Amino acid sequence: MLKNDQLDQWDRENFFHPSTHLAQHARGESPTRIVTGGSGCHIVDREGNKLLDAFAGLYCVNVGYGRKEIAEAIADQAKELAYYHSYVGHGTEASITLAKMILDRAPKNMSKVYFGLGGSDANETNVKLIWYYNNILGRPEKKKIISRWRGYHGSGLMTGSLTGLELFHKKFDLPLEQVVHTEAPYFFRRENAEQTESEFVAHCVAELETLISLEGADTIAAFIGEPILGTGGIVPPPAGYWAAIQEVLKKHDILLVADEVVTGFGRLGTMFGSEHYGIEPDLITIAKGMTSAYAPLSGSIVGEKMWTVLEKGTDENGPIGHGWTYSAHPIGAAAGVANLNLIDSLGLIENAGTVGSYLNVQMRQALHEHPHVGDVRGEGMMCAIEFVADKEKRNFFDPAQKIGPQIAAGLLEKGVIGRAMPQGDILGFAPPFCLTKEEADEVVSKTTDVVKSFSF
Ligand code: PLP
Repeated sequence: MLKNDQLDQWDRENFFHPSTHLAQHARGESPTRIVTGGSGCHIVDREGNKLLDAFAGLYCVNVGYGRKEIAEAIADQAKELAYYHSYVGHGTEASITLAKMILDRAPKNMSKVYFGLGGSDANETNVKLIWYYNNILGRPEKKKIISRWRGYHGSGLMTGSLTGLELFHKKFDLPLEQVVHTEAPYFFRRENAEQTESEFVAHCVAELETLISLEGADTIAAFIGEPILGTGGIVPPPAGYWAAIQEVLKKHDILLVADEVVTGFGRLGTMFGSEHYGIEPDLITIAKGMTSAYAPLSGSIVGEKMWTVLEKGTDENGPIGHGWTYSAHPIGAAAGVANLNLIDSLGLIENAGTVGSYLNVQMRQALHEHPHVGDVRGEGMMCAIEFVADKEKRNFFDPAQKIGPQIAAGLLEKGVIGRAMPQGDILGFAPPFCLTKEEADEVVSKTTDVVKSFSF
């Protein structure tokens, strides 16, 4: 029960919300929702609305809301030892166990896990490790990072630069000069409509090769990518994309970072997206699904190739000058252990695969013929609908019309949370892994109702 009936006012007067139109919010023009509880795939708000959260928070509450097993693990850890640091060889049973559990589940050739707090700081760690690595190898010029347009890797200085979305750069003096962007593997939005999928892959490869030769391979340290583009529009890669890209990276001795903040721990129906697409990364970024967001925790999984060099670096230079007070926080680690155990015991990755593909098939069947639905796509427990002004010509709406946000708002009125993705009129879904077929049907039927009754 909420005790304070002034929350609306306090919110607008005091709370700086992330990713929010600050002026509209302060003026009271945009809605506030005060969330009070959750269970399974649903959240409940102060007004008593029960909403089917088909985006799992920010694609992170993978096991669903209200899991007592994780809450109890957190409480037990807090009572026993709420905090100790992990500097100079210190650890807790939870943090050491979690590192082992992650390595047991990780793709081959991974060596160690560094723990942070969120996806952004984990990618920040990755960039520092990449720079350190090349300095130890005596290649101080090999420092630039290639990222894709529409990639999302965080909103810090470096990670906001890696992110390839306009909103995260504009007026922030980003991207920083150490980051260069290449073509997004976004087949639906390819410029040349005549291109087949394999021709489009060849085009992405050619763009990458051109960028590398323009910059000079000896200046490029790494390439970062999400196995499937997430915030950039929920876009699975075209067939053969990752194999072709990895060939280019190998040829030029460029490290590969798989940003698995969304896909790690089961969202595509496999433990990692790397496994799903045959990606062999040197570093893997993990966060959200590691604790299902019951506590903040992220990680950088470091591959053997890099680890050997990092060890050599500390022999030459002393302890690694990198760490946060809250690295490997025991409460986050306890949540992680309980979360991974729960995922295993409930078979949630399998459910993400089967119900996820059911959701995608049903959504496609229901909407692909609609004159303003250009694309219905997805993989595992991720699904997106892209709206177009003209289907034949693949013309898009003027962003000022806010078609995507309006449709998401209409769906919310019917009790289902989808997400209007930030660039393009794209309605995204990434439900908790425990979604049932009946809940998937509800998402599809309510989305279909909203889309069919919308005046485009
Ligand atoms: N990487 C990916 C792929 C993400 O989707 C996100 C967040 O959505 C991040 C990194 C950043 O994570 P955080 O918001 O925890 O900093």
